[in-house]
Amino acid sequence: MHDEIAAWLRAAAVRVHEEAPALTALDQAIGDGDHGINMDRGFKAIVAMLDSRPAAADGTTDQTATADLLRQVGKTLISTVGGAAGPLYGTAFLRGAAAVAAEGSSAPAALAAALDAAAVGISGLGKSTEGEKTMLDALFPAARAARAALDAGGNAAAVAAAAHDAADMGAAATIPMLATKGRASYLGERSIGHQDPGATSAALLLGVLAATAAANTAG
Ligand code: ADP
Ligand code: MG
Repeated sequence: MHDEIAAWLRAAAVRVHEEAPALTALDQAIGDGDHGINMDRGFKAIVAMLDSRPAAADGTTDQTATADLLRQVGKTLISTVGGAAGPLYGTAFLRGAAAVAAEGSSAPAALAAALDAAAVGISGLGKSTEGEKTMLDALFPAARAARAALDAGGNAAAVAAAAHDAADMGAAATIPMLATKGRASYLGERSIGHQDPGATSAALLLGVLAATAAANTAG
């Protein structure tokens, strides 16, 4: 899993950079116009971390190496990304790391557990839940879809694809929502009619994960 996660993060950094202007434009509509900049800064720091981290010690299991990597990603995001998204995404990765360490001996199970833990972790830190026009409107449906795909016997690619599809739908479903958390909530009714930037970036990240998992299964 470790190498696939590293590949996902590198590919995600490329896509986040490409989509940074679009993410920032969404945040200009209902926030302070920095979400793309924040995410780009965070993923550049993740790539720098990947480039500089030492190889895992001999005897480290793939499960442990994967959890360690996710933990480092979380720390990197928390220390390099300001605003709401850095601590929220950072916490998501830290919780995902703990879930992989606890129950991630198989990749599809790890993925479903990590997504669930990530959404719950964000919800706890952000004091937020579904329906408030945040990244959780992508991540909770993604976690549920991942679990359903796992229960149906899906492999990692199937679990990731299900999560991505649900996240895409969840992000689109934020358009008519009224924001009640984060900066967008300051706009009140004027937040209605715009897609949430964080839900959009979450769906983007899961899209890259699905593509990475599919390429890995095919190869
Ligand atoms: P900031 O809001 O500090 O400028 P960003 O623009 O990087 O940070 O991120 C904004 C995104 O963070 C929002 O689009 C939303 O998805 C997410 N967000 C903000 N507050 C919360 C919260 N309390 N719970 C969950 N997600 C949140
Ligand atoms: Mg912002």
